[in-house]
Amino acid sequence: MSNNRYKILVVEDEANIRSFVETILDANNYQVLTATRCDMGTMLFSSHLPDLVILDLGLPDRDGLEFISAARQISAAPIIVLSARTTEADKVAALDLGANDYITKPFGTAELLARLRAALRSSRAGAEMGAVPGGKFVLEDLEIQYDTRTVSIGGNTIDLTQTEYNIVAFLSTHTGKVLTYSAIIQAVWGYSDHGSVKKLQVNMANIRKKLGAKPGENRYIINELGVGYRMQDDNS
Ligand code: CA
Repeated sequence: MSNNRYKILVVEDEANIRSFVETILDANNYQVLTATRCDMGTMLFSSHLPDLVILDLGLPDRDGLEFISAARQISAAPIIVLSARTTEADKVAALDLGANDYITKPFGTAELLARLRAALRSSRAGAEMGAVPGGKFVLEDLEIQYDTRTVSIGGNTIDLTQTEYNIVAFLSTHTGKVLTYSAIIQAVWGYSDHGSVKKLQVNMANIRKKLGAKPGENRYIINELGVGYRMQDDNS
């Protein structure tokens, strides 16, 4: 086994779920660290700087949301929240604090591994994107040229408004990550008010139409109902 395996921290107090996740990760050649409490998880996070964290929100000592805040002071390593909580408000709170994705319990092996690979790819892509000024984004036949602010599909330029472009570009620089309505609104308009979610949804409907998506179809951009949007990952 090589030393350059991805290091994954699992913070989960339920023994059966923890060992289920640990077994899957181990079998797929990930290096695994585990913690059963929030304080222990935070300590392992700062001392081992894992590449990714799988985090339960209902921990015995503290709320897992506190782990996210503490971790984000230290690194941008992707955090996937594992939760029995299914309300949209909980997902939004975790995402807005800096989590990258969430998986609702119960979940299967294939789903866990797919989300994990997407989060790792997304964090690598983000790092590379930042290092290349005037770079471009490619997803299937969709291409974004950041220096000229143009979006094209199969080589044909799509006529987007400035706002529509800003939304698409913002999603593309966080590909694979669920972005909440308020995160997108803050990035695009710089403020959030009562009407801004509606304004975002109207813009998004126009974007999807221009990108050739039929109603209800997730083409390039995935609609995370009641939570936000996600730019499709290359392999999902
Ligand atoms: Ca728990």
